[in-house]
Amino acid sequence: MKTIKIDVAVIGAGSAGLPAYRAAKAAGASALLIEGGPYGTTCARVGCMPSKLLIAAAEAAHAASSTAPFGVHVDGAIRIDGREVMRRVKSERDRFVGFVVDSVEGIPAEDRVIGYAKFIDDNWLQVGDHTRVQARSVVIATGSSPYVPAMYRALGDRAIVNDDVFSWDDLPRKIAVIGAGVIGLELSQALARLGVDVTVLGARGRVGPLTDPAIRDYAQKVFSDALHFEPRAEVEAATRDGDTVHLRYRASDGTLVDDSYDYVLVTAGRRPNMGRLALGNTTLELDSHGMPVYDPVTLQAGAHPVFIAGDANGVLPLLHEAADEGRAAGSNAARYPNVAPLVRRAPISVLFSDPGIAMVGARHADLAAGSFVAGEVSFEDQGRSRVMLRNRGLMHVYVDKATRRFVGAEWIGPDAEHIAHLLAWALQMNLTVDAMLDMPFYHPVVEEGLRTALRNAAALLKAEH
Ligand SMILES: Cc1cc2nc3c(=O)[nH]c(=O)nc-3n(C[C@H](O)[C@H](O)[C@H](O)COP(=O)(O)OP(=O)(O)OC[C@H]3O[C@@H](n4cnc5c(N)ncnc54)[C@H](O)[C@@H]3O)c2cc1C
Repeated sequence: MKTIKIDVAVIGAGSAGLPAYRAAKAAGASALLIEGGPYGTTCARVGCMPSKLLIAAAEAAHAASSTAPFGVHVDGAIRIDGREVMRRVKSERDRFVGFVVDSVEGIPAEDRVIGYAKFIDDNWLQVGDHTRVQARSVVIATGSSPYVPAMYRALGDRAIVNDDVFSWDDLPRKIAVIGAGVIGLELSQALARLGVDVTVLGARGRVGPLTDPAIRDYAQKVFSDALHFEPRAEVEAATRDGDTVHLRYRASDGTLVDDSYDYVLVTAGRRPNMGRLALGNTTLELDSHGMPVYDPVTLQAGAHPVFIAGDANGVLPLLHEAADEGRAAGSNAARYPNVAPLVRRAPISVLFSDPGIAMVGARHADLAAGSFVAGEVSFEDQGRSRVMLRNRGLMHVYVDKATRRFVGAEWIGPDAEHIAHLLAWALQMNLTVDAMLDMPFYHPVVEEGLRTALRNAAALLKAEH
């Protein structure tokens, strides 16, 4: 058994762990990166990148089949070759993964250990069956895994998760997607546009991350028009017969439906990877889910020299948040006990559907009733959106009544990923609705829709006085 003594042990070489390791080194500490799975990160291997590659193929298919209203006719059949689609998804994905693997392998070999880590006690880790690590501080950056309810686990390899989609050699004929969160909706729309017969079984009326009832209702209609979407389904039974899965579910309108699928793609949320860590061997305080109780500002678990970053803490499972948290955790682990608060950027999240869904700043559900006005724009008559025949969408921008500051927005609409950045930057700069309206707006652009929403908010504020 090899023994290593180190200042900072980082568990997990993902999007949080890598910057944690680098920040610890930059702060002058010795650091060790421990990885149990393959190098390459969830984002590049089975997350952000392959999902966007699949979406890009879907957008190409959709564009090719949507030209007629412009008087442009693609005569003859549009043929989607599932094997070619998946070949490009995987080869481009492998290219992205290759860059990450190269950068990890550029880290000195003595700073890396391969194997799953678990705690022996507060300061000692066991890695695989070969190494013991005595660490002054530990960063837990173990990421998250899809949650698969027991009912679907019984279906064996016909119940799949996002990782499995990105190892397909060909597209399936028909699938059911369980869950209408971000991952479920992105993959559902992409697969439907690529000719797969997709049924999305959501629960409790959820549509991605949206909390504003008007925006959620609008988005629900958009997805219901595009694919078989049951926002309030209750699955009563899931059985397998050979390679076919049978589901019995109560649809949103109460009717009982029996249907068969090639696969059930389970996108019912993700859970932090804590199971392998044997946290029970430490004196860390654990909550009822077995998660260490930690401070979301410093990422520190109690007063211990243990810091939790990225999807592992279950707070903001997004790439840029994982990277920021990793840097802060690595730096705090090196400087312990002199820990500093993590200064978070303005909240921004995007669901890469078409039209896109985005949220910036405070969620509608978190704003105090009566404290804000909601400026609205429909993209249905918005000039440039209509020109491009992408005129579906509804946006609400929230402006604080007392300060006139922009505090948040939820919407579905064209170019949402780009407008989300304008709004996140405005939020981080603490701009008022008046300052935002003083900014330049070109013509004709989709951003003029945002200006309409901001003007609407300003008019509502005026009406309040
Ligand atoms: C389908 C999908 C699409 C996504 N799309 C986007 C997007 O468009 N934009 C966006 O911002 N985010 C997106 N995300 C989220 C993003 O991928 C994650 O937030 C991010 O990858 C989290 O990074 P992490 O370092 O916390 O975890 P990971 O990158 O998963 O790293 C954790 C590492 O820890 C290792 N590990 C676990 N346990 C142990 C142990 N005990 N010992 C040693 N090693 C261990 C794992 O093997 C893994 O390599 C998407 C996610 C998915 C699944």
